[in-house]
Amino acid sequence: MLKVFSDPRCLLHRVPDGYPEKAERLESILEFLNDHEVEVEEAGEHRGFELAVAAVHSEEYLSRFLSTVGRGELFLDTPDNPLCGSTWEAARAAVDATLTAAEWVAAGTGRRGMTAVRPPGHHAERDGAMGFCYFNNMAVAVEYLRREKGARRLAVVDFDVHHGNGTQHIFEGRGDLLYLSTHRYPFYPGTGAAEERGTGAGEGATINVPLPAGAGDVAFEAAFQSVLLPALQEFRPEILLISAGFDAWQSDPLGGMQVSEQGYRDWGRWLGTVSEEICEGRCLVLLEGGYDIGSLPGLLWTHLQALDGQVTEL
Ligand SMILES: [Zn+2]
Repeated sequence: MLKVFSDPRCLLHRVPDGYPEKAERLESILEFLNDHEVEVEEAGEHRGFELAVAAVHSEEYLSRFLSTVGRGELFLDTPDNPLCGSTWEAARAAVDATLTAAEWVAAGTGRRGMTAVRPPGHHAERDGAMGFCYFNNMAVAVEYLRREKGARRLAVVDFDVHHGNGTQHIFEGRGDLLYLSTHRYPFYPGTGAAEERGTGAGEGATINVPLPAGAGDVAFEAAFQSVLLPALQEFRPEILLISAGFDAWQSDPLGGMQVSEQGYRDWGRWLGTVSEEICEGRCLVLLEGGYDIGSLPGLLWTHLQALDGQVTEL
């Protein structure tokens, strides 16, 4: 069972011309889903928001984010993080939709929940904004499932073309969160070497598969089949979480990789199948990057349908 969650407040984060992470990304997805008669649940505010972000981000960062917006400043922490008067509200909406989706996925078997949200999250660190990301939506989902839903073992697959430095750093000391990432390397944000395997109790629970510029379906298939899927089968998480960026796509303006539509379909099929084996099909998919606006909605929908075991049309 597939369900998509979003929130119109995610469109309120307006960015200067030239920034690829813009409202049009989400507008095109929502339009596509509407055209395909896919129902999208408007999440609205979630009562767990304050606790959930406080579990992931430092108090100092949260108050700095609010006060920087309040002063009308143009950026938060980095030139990749532009601000407008509604950036906090939009980032909050992404978290609200994430929590609503996480709650739904946790409540039954075979549930595939997807958030169509922005701004994305996986670069956001405990103490700072980075790479178009303000709140780490994925880390928030993990902490919420752990604290409010009693999850003891969770796994994150992050196939955005960029390494999810924030998600890795927030959990790298823990053994109960398996973080798996495929990404271009060396590349922004600079982290994600194969040698980064977690620290202390988390040693071995971070698995990075760095790939060279121009890698395509064959290289990614090898990473999924020989590293990611076996690691998931061994770890057996209670819910499979997916940081779904579509910027390894062959025509993405930022990614520089060669993944085809069939690639995203295959990844969905493989992850859906393994989720049936290990966690009764429970999957939570969070939108991260993906900047070829013309192709993004179709790739996302192809991936989701394959994840949910539906035959997808070419
Ligand atoms: Zn990315």
